[in-house]
This record gives sequence, structure tokens and C-alpha cells, in this order.
Amino acid sequence: MELTRLRGFQDLIGPSAETFTFIEDCARRCVERHCFREIRIPLVERIELYDRSTGETSDIVQKQMYKIERPPESDATGAMVLRPEGTPGVVRAYIEAGLDRREPEQRFFYSGPMLRYERPQKGRYRQFHQFGVEVFGRSDALCDAELLVMIEEFRRELGIRLTFQINSIGDALCRPGFREAVLNFGLKHRDELCEDCKQRLTRNPLRLLDCKIDAALVESAPRSIDYLCPGCRAHFDKVKDLLGAAGVEFVENPRLVRGLDYYTRTTFEVISADVGAQSTVIAGGRYDGLIEALGGAPVPGIGFAMGVERLALALETAGRAPKFEVDAAIISIGDAAARKAITVARAMRERGLRVEMLSPERRPKALLGRAAKIGARFAVIIGENEIQKGVVVLRDLRASSQAELPEAQVAETVLAARAG
Ligand code: ATP
Ligand code: MG
Repeated sequence: MELTRLRGFQDLIGPSAETFTFIEDCARRCVERHCFREIRIPLVERIELYDRSTGETSDIVQKQMYKIERPPESDATGAMVLRPEGTPGVVRAYIEAGLDRREPEQRFFYSGPMLRYERPQKGRYRQFHQFGVEVFGRSDALCDAELLVMIEEFRRELGIRLTFQINSIGDALCRPGFREAVLNFGLKHRDELCEDCKQRLTRNPLRLLDCKIDAALVESAPRSIDYLCPGCRAHFDKVKDLLGAAGVEFVENPRLVRGLDYYTRTTFEVISADVGAQSTVIAGGRYDGLIEALGGAPVPGIGFAMGVERLALALETAGRAPKFEVDAAIISIGDAAARKAITVARAMRERGLRVEMLSPERRPKALLGRAAKIGARFAVIIGENEIQKGVVVLRDLRASSQAELPEAQVAETVLAARAG
């Protein structure tokens, strides 16, 4: 076949799509309990948005953006890109709607595809899906802790195991000292660094700390928590205390950093042991300088994004992926039976049951095979005989038993079996 999908892009067919929807639905219910409101933003933004938020020195901006060749005629400003992440667009929309000045305290969630030109591998694709949240206008530690509590609720509902890692990277007051310490460390070990990190040293030394190649060396690098100012230390202590009060288990990971200046204080990652090398399923943190950096009011913010593909892998490994359960297959033999079948099916679906009507063109024997194949719990069988008697046959395909009953009792009986 010539017209195959592109490398790094996935088709989600049936069960894999349903696992995605299951995760997204679960996340939506969870964030709605925490009073987050939905935001939907475009797939395409101006390239400058990411230069100024994601950061010119980040891998995303340097190597991973999909640029669109043709700008719309009416809009002559530079290039456009397919969004590589959600936060910049959400912040832009928030400022553009004037909320940063009018009603700065907001909590939003978004969900949808993101695009990055990456080297595809398990858990890493060129189109992937994020479900993310952003809280604007809150700088308190309770807000940070509550986001992690919310993730813990979500984790429980999915029924998977995850590890929470947290760190604090300081703020405008104390980060410069830390940055200098990392720079000096890097300069001292310059010869041992990978080529990328040699570059990073001049542009953005903090990025050294999350280098995957120099991980061993980084073990002995300075730690941000040793450089926190009293304000940042108190904030971090409060977050940890609140997580303790909420019974959320976590580990401190001094290697968690964000390279850019507007990321502040709390950063966290949530790790799964069940998804292979790309084990970070959720990443987030505080970004008290971002809204201002994008031209808005000086409003603090914090958020996280979950990778749906990686969560789906975790769910599948844990055997927690949802199963599509068909309640009944309806088999009709003859035209009069088909007319009855259509009303029986409708009554069952009105009660929320999943019902597939099978083709009357198949042979009766093949029909039971089809019912088994789609995994139906019951078959409802209607033939000449049943029409005469004013009943239908309800066959329990699991127990291989069957009974005749009046049409009006079918839905109730199937519902009762499903509940029990
Ligand atoms: P990584 O270090 O794995 O490249 P990242 O720091 O680029 O991750 P973020 O930008 O913080 O990731 O995105 C948040 C989450 O989105 C990640 O934790 C991950 O679950 C998911 N994610 C990011 N990039 C991809 C990708 N290419 N394919 C699948 N999921 C991804
Ligand atoms: Mg990445």
C-alpha cells in the first residue's frame, strides 16, 4: 500500500481509541469536580508565541516545530506553527480575552492533539495528545498541592500506579545564584559534557540538569533546593506539608528543572514504571512570570499536561483498559420479525443498553456466530414462531441457556443481568 500514514502518526482504531476516550472522560470528570472550566484553542498559532513562552533555546522551538508554509493572505505576519504544547495558546487566549486584568483568577482545562517533530519510538510520537490544566491568579502553596491531589484522584480512578516527583526551582530572587552555580559546575566539567550541553552552557545552563546523556555527571551538580530564598523555601515546605495532610505520596527529585526564567518554585513530574523508557506521563509546575512575559498583567500561574498516549500504555500494561461490552445482538428471521426487532432494539437502547441488530441476510446459524464474535452477552431471537406466540427468545450467551418472554420484559431482564 502506497498511501500509508506518516511516520510518528497513529491511527487509533476501536479499542485503542476507546482507551483514549476513557482517559479523557475520566480526566474531564476529575477536573470538573475541581471546578476547572473548558477552553478550546486553535491548532495553529503564530511562531512568535512559542519563541516567547516555550523558549528559543528549548528543544521544541529549536528542532521540533511544524511550520506551515503558507500564511493566510489577510495576515502578513511571519510564520505559523502547529501547536507543540497547550500552555502558550491558553495563556495567549486568556490575555486576549482581557481576563488577566478583568478576572485574573481562572482555572482552565484543555484536551487535544499536539505536534512535534521528534524521533518516534514507544511513547513518543509526532502527533500526541495532551490533557492539561492551567490555574491563573493563584500564588499560594495550597493551589500547588491541590493540583497534585487532583492527579492522585485521577490516578486512583484509572487504577494504575504512578510515582510523584517534586522539586522547587526558586524564583527571580534566588534562581540567579543557582544558575551561576550550575554554570560554574558546567564550566569545570566542560570536557565531560555532551555537545548539546556545551551549547546549553552559554545559552541556558539550567538545561544541563535534565540532559539525558550527561545524567551520571549531573548527579553531582548543584541542587536548586540548596539555593532557595526564605520565601521559596517556605512555599515548598507548605506544599510538602499539605501533600502529607492529603495522604499523597511523593519523592523529592532535585534534578527536576525547567530551563526558563518564568518557571518558578514548584515543579513536578509523574512517572509510570509500566510504559518503558518514556516514563514521564505528566509534567507540570508553576510559571509565575509567563503571563507577563507574553504581554499580560503580572498574574501568577501553574499547570500541568498529561500525555494521553503514555497513560494509555500504562493502562494497557496494568490490564485496566476499558472493554467494549455489547449487551445484546438481535436476530430476526423473516420480515414480520424484522419489524418487531426494530422496536425491541429501540426500547433496549432507550434504557442505555448496547444493542446491535444483525443482518437478516445471514443464515440463522451464522447469526449466533456473529453474536458471539461481537461479544454480546445476550441474543434476542425473533422468528415466525415467536411472532405467533407474542414472545421473544432471550438467549444468555454466557450461560448457554434461553427463555421465552414478552417483548416488554427484555430490557429489564438484560439490565438486571448486567447489574448483577
Ligand atoms: P520528554 O522529556 O519525554 O520529551 P517533554 O518535557 O518534552 O517530555 P512536556 O512538554 O512537559 O514533555 O509534555 C508533557 C507530557 O506530554 C509529557 O510528560 C508526556 O507525557 C507527553 N509528551 C510530550 N512529548 C510527547 C511525544 N512526542 N509523544 C507522546 N507524548 C509526549
Ligand atoms: Mg520532549
